[in-house]
Amino acid sequence: MTESTPNPTVNRPVLVAIDGPAGSGKSSVSKAVATRLGYGFLDTGAAYRALAWLVLERGIDQNDADAVIRALADFDYEIGTDPAGYYVRVGENDVTDAIREPRVSAAVSAIARVPEVRSHLVQLFRSIAAGVDAPGVVVEGRDITTVVARDAPVRILLTASEEARMARRSAELHDDAAATAGAELKKRDQADSRVVDFLNAAEGVTTVDSTDLNFAETVDAVIAVIAATDTTAD
Ligand code: C5P
Repeated sequence: MTESTPNPTVNRPVLVAIDGPAGSGKSSVSKAVATRLGYGFLDTGAAYRALAWLVLERGIDQNDADAVIRALADFDYEIGTDPAGYYVRVGENDVTDAIREPRVSAAVSAIARVPEVRSHLVQLFRSIAAGVDAPGVVVEGRDITTVVARDAPVRILLTASEEARMARRSAELHDDAAATAGAELKKRDQADSRVVDFLNAAEGVTTVDSTDLNFAETVDAVIAVIAATDTTAD
């Protein structure tokens, strides 16, 4: 072992923090922004979903906070941070698709409100983001601008009116499925916003309202915010 003092800021990727409600398009926008800039991409909601998946898989009641905390002890989680190579794994299981199932979406808010779960995952996100081998990383979620990376040089709240968010979600589905998905999205946002405020921009956070923007325009608007920031400062 050599005696040297590591400089923790050397080679650390620049953090771009993006928060927003469900259906704001923040995942696909963040991925596209990361691709354009050659950055990594960290979807934090996937970890809450993967833990919810594990809890359901083990037949644990998602409202039993103590049992959920115990499940954290051997939560062996892995996520792809290359925007072109996204995957989510729990132990040996590839859960990339399974974590999008409605049963997981319905259980996730109960898990995400447990403070021990949040502090555990916040640490995990910080260490995954710091280890990304790219000049920057776009980290998206609900509490990235306020908790996970509140010192990030770029902090954005991506919003859209509720009508726009419901319409975008529904466009992918039909009739009854669209109505159910809309109602579930609303329920999840209401539950989530009791835990973290992702509907109002914190101080120093730039709001990008995508209500009247299409996908490409939203990506451009986020890139413009990043370009206007001196990400080399620090
Ligand atoms: O972003 P996504 O909809 O996949 O997130 C799934 C769930 O994970 C949210 O509904 C919320 O309960 C939780 N979450 C959170 N904090 C984050 C990201 C997601 O509580 N930073």
